[in-house]
Amino acid sequence: MTRVFNFSAGPATLPIDVLEQVRNDLLDWNGSGMSVMEMSHRGKEFVAIAEQATADLKSLLGVPDNYSILWMQGGATGQFSAIPMNLLRGGSTADYVVTGSWGKKAIKEAGRFCTANTAARPVDDVFTHVPAREQWNLDPNAAYVHYTPNETIEGVEFPEVPDVGDVPLVADFSSTFLSRPIDVERFGLIYAGAQKNLGPAGVTIVIVRNDLLGQALPQTPTVLDYQQIAAADSMLNTPPCFAWYVCGLVLQWIKARGGLPAMAERNARKAGKLYDYIDGSGYYRNPVRPSDRSWMNVPFTLPDAGLDAAFLAGAGEIGLSTLKGHRSVGGMRASLYNAMPEAGVDALIDYMKEFARTNG
Ligand code: PMP
Repeated sequence: MTRVFNFSAGPATLPIDVLEQVRNDLLDWNGSGMSVMEMSHRGKEFVAIAEQATADLKSLLGVPDNYSILWMQGGATGQFSAIPMNLLRGGSTADYVVTGSWGKKAIKEAGRFCTANTAARPVDDVFTHVPAREQWNLDPNAAYVHYTPNETIEGVEFPEVPDVGDVPLVADFSSTFLSRPIDVERFGLIYAGAQKNLGPAGVTIVIVRNDLLGQALPQTPTVLDYQQIAAADSMLNTPPCFAWYVCGLVLQWIKARGGLPAMAERNARKAGKLYDYIDGSGYYRNPVRPSDRSWMNVPFTLPDAGLDAAFLAGAGEIGLSTLKGHRSVGGMRASLYNAMPEAGVDALIDYMKEFARTNG
């Protein structure tokens, strides 16, 4: 068996210990005589798996009791619609801070349900920094303020949670969820697709403050109605059982390694190493303002895009996989989620040094 260092932005690399556990459990989960894929979601085995995962997520993130944790489907993209449908609460406007490609998609989708104000967005959509908070144009009557703490494509990450007063803050944590501790109380709602730091694709986490529930637009589909999903413990219909179970294993893996403070320390070190090398190389380049650089997704360019194919081919030969940047920005992107070992970052830097030396 050959495992590569997989730098994919998502679906992304999972901890080897988790994959081995999945393999061990595959035919017979815990003496049940069946795989988790084959279990009734209403049976006591799966209900125990689901409850444990929710409890572990709650304790790892320190989710207060007045919040609901929902396991949903439809991806973060589904939430781009679910959020206005559930959170407008009689209002007609919402504020969006756009710092990259995913924020652009979120505001576009919200425009189908409300007046979605652009509270801040860089001129010409050149996404290389977080606009200063004083320059945001917030509407005091907005039902919520939406932002994207980490833009997966551009590699722009908010260094801190912005202060928006009493208006509920809504955040698309997809690509930085569980990378570091967060103060959940600062948010009205947090959401994230699982397929980066949490598990396989197919499940989407929503953590929402309970006082925001119960006022969904009348036409909201039941499977997107937070109140109804909360009331049914996320089992309103058949949930993505297998994905939920694998997420549970990842949560236990994070816990066993010291929880989110330990993840943060390791992630800061991994990303710091790579940015330091890029900045000092005189060869590779990352355009993002240093204070706003992502710990999870590190885009970089070579001096000449004509070298990209050779860079990727050479990387592939030594097991450094999926480094091609998103088609909209070009160049390279190394995603360094929790499950990327430090040895993977070291191997990437060694390869980059060698490539620069021989192609400089
Ligand atoms: N938001 C962000 C920040 C993302 O990185 C992604 C996926 N890469 C999405 C939204 C869309 O997620 P999904 O594919 O789960 O709908």
